[in-house]
Amino acid sequence: MRIAVAKEVEVCERRVALIPDAVARLVKQGLEVVVETGAGEKAFFGDAVYEDAGAKIITDTALLWSEADILLKVSPPQEREGKYIDLMRPGSVLIAFLNPLGNPVIAEKLAHRQITSFSMEMIPRSTRAQGIDALSSQASIAGYKAVLIAATALPKYFPMLTTAAGTIAPAKVFVIGAGVAGLQAIATARRLGAMVEAFDIRPAVKEEVQSLGAKFVEVKLEEETTAKGGYAKEISDDSKKRTQEVIAAHVKSADVVITTAQVPGKKAPLLVTEEMVAQMKVGSVIVDIAAEQGGNCAYTEPGRDISKHGVNIFGPINLPSSVPVHASQLYSKNLTSLMQLMVKNGQLDINFADDIIDAACITHAGEIRNPKIKELLQSLSAIR
Ligand code: NAD
Repeated sequence: MRIAVAKEVEVCERRVALIPDAVARLVKQGLEVVVETGAGEKAFFGDAVYEDAGAKIITDTALLWSEADILLKVSPPQEREGKYIDLMRPGSVLIAFLNPLGNPVIAEKLAHRQITSFSMEMIPRSTRAQGIDALSSQASIAGYKAVLIAATALPKYFPMLTTAAGTIAPAKVFVIGAGVAGLQAIATARRLGAMVEAFDIRPAVKEEVQSLGAKFVEVKLEEETTAKGGYAKEISDDSKKRTQEVIAAHVKSADVVITTAQVPGKKAPLLVTEEMVAQMKVGSVIVDIAAEQGGNCAYTEPGRDISKHGVNIFGPINLPSSVPVHASQLYSKNLTSLMQLMVKNGQLDINFADDIIDAACITHAGEIRNPKIKELLQSLSAIR
């Protein structure tokens, strides 16, 4: 059984799918691990450390992909990696963030090649799957880093300080969306001494927000806001109007706004309007973690830092990649835990009766297994 670790080619991707410690554990279990030369470089794991861990370093990318039983990646394969997918053996396994709901065509290609592919976005958010939940391990990093960006850009202290030269009031941080990233943003801002408020349409998060020492901003909505799996639902126009009224007041008084709100499979909801930004104090900061999904702030430009009405608005892309050592370490653990479910006695043994395998496997034996991806492809072919 040969496990291959590909070098990421996406420009802003600094993470690597397996770190040397994980390689050593797999080698100890009798598995063969091959690593593309330079795969861990941007995460500060050099080829020599992988070799010490028992991996074989491969310089020929085509050979790495064509001889893998399981090929591991972080980012979805890029267009120029299509030729390597063509080299993969039918029946071999590809595991990565495949973004099949954003780019369903990848599933079509993988199914056509008879590749068994697992999309890390599709791991169920269940207690049993916690160790495999890469969305959570990476979102937590995004929440942490967003606060550091804000703290660096804010022309003020975060903590309250009593000094001989006077007392400094703590910064006011408003976090919108208290999922995994939002909760880590709250915790990080609290650790830096800020006064934190948070809002989410799912009332269930109130206790978690409060347990981190933040105030939960409540809006009573007359509709169910939580969908299957604990995710947020898209809300009605009336509810949107009511939440925006409440959000406006808190945005206005905040020094920092961190937005993280997302609805799976949909464009991120617009929550911070141009008018709200115009009402903020000059020098305030917005960090929009939802930038890649369209952003929660009207002014957000993905991948850019801009200034409007004296407010600095950050639309960072791939924040986990900016903490590549720990992001890779956690992702690596997620991948090895997933592989434990599909490798038995050194052989591939894919059991669809396992709910994690069933949910995460998007293509197998020439078929697309996920109904949502199939639907998306059908609507795409209607347009084509
Ligand atoms: P996410 O990234 O999909 O969204 C971030 C947050 O934005 C969510 O809390 C969502 O409720 C909120 N949001 C959406 N629309 C909003 C709006 N209009 N206004 C304000 N907030 C809005 O969420 P996530 O962090 O991936 O978490 C999704 C769910 O999965 C949560 O219920 C979380 O508790 C659950 N979860 C469970 C486990 C587990 O049990 N092992 C692990 C991780 C996450």
